[in-house]
Amino acid sequence: YETHLMEVHRMEAVGRMAAGIAHDFRGILGAAMGFAELIRRLPSLPPDADRYSQRIVEILQRGNNLTQEVMSFGKDTPLSPRVVDATKIILSMHSMLQVLVSNRIRLTSELGRPVSRIFIDSAQLERTLLNLVLNARDAMPSGGELTISAEDAEIEDPDGDTGTFVLIRVTDTGCGMDETTRANIFKPFFTTKGENGTGLGLAIVDQIISRAGGFIRVDSAPDQGTTIKLYIPRIAAP
Ligand code: ADP
Repeated sequence: YETHLMEVHRMEAVGRMAAGIAHDFRGILGAAMGFAELIRRLPSLPPDADRYSQRIVEILQRGNNLTQEVMSFGKDTPLSPRVVDATKIILSMHSMLQVLVSNRIRLTSELGRPVSRIFIDSAQLERTLLNLVLNARDAMPSGGELTISAEDAEIEDPDGDTGTFVLIRVTDTGCGMDETTRANIFKPFFTTKGENGTGLGLAIVDQIISRAGGFIRVDSAPDQGTTIKLYIPRIAAP
């Protein structure tokens, strides 16, 4: 029990520090966003320059959202859950995600049949998919296949009750994980990416999915790729 308490205190301290860094970082992103906007207002801007600076603004906006996420990590941020169709959200993100993962990775959104609605903050679902896709990208430095799918699935939840969930699967053909890694991936600040990782991606995903009443399963083995399965309670039949 005592060790657990110490762990909680340590986490709190680290969380506060991360939130402080995120706060400063947000200021930096805001300044960059301002200058990118200024470029867009220049007279007789070549169309390409306009497009690219528009992109910069969008990317900085995502960074902004991420820092927001870090700042609120662990706090009970107010959510705006709505009834959403996960397939629509996945589709709307497809081209953005494809750009993000580079062209050595082929992204497929497998959305055959209609799925049930879920009750979730859509910005948080987007953040979740983004985090999972970024991890898949990092796991496939020399390219591979990335598939996102959604379907209804009957499964026993962690309480032993069988229910129908919307299953969102993010599968990659990347490096996979050994057992130690897999046992730790949801711990905040656990990363195998050194300087390049924050270790917050999956901790955030875990928080979002459990707040939506769902749970996560992971299939992964070294060199066998990874599938992250998000089970989110459905609210009605399709
Ligand atoms: P970060 O990406 O900053 O390291 P995450 O919490 O998102 O933080 O991930 C924690 C760790 O889980 C990663 O460092 C990596 O070792 C492992 N991991 C997550 N997703 C994958 C994946 N798709 N393939 C292989 N390893 C993964």
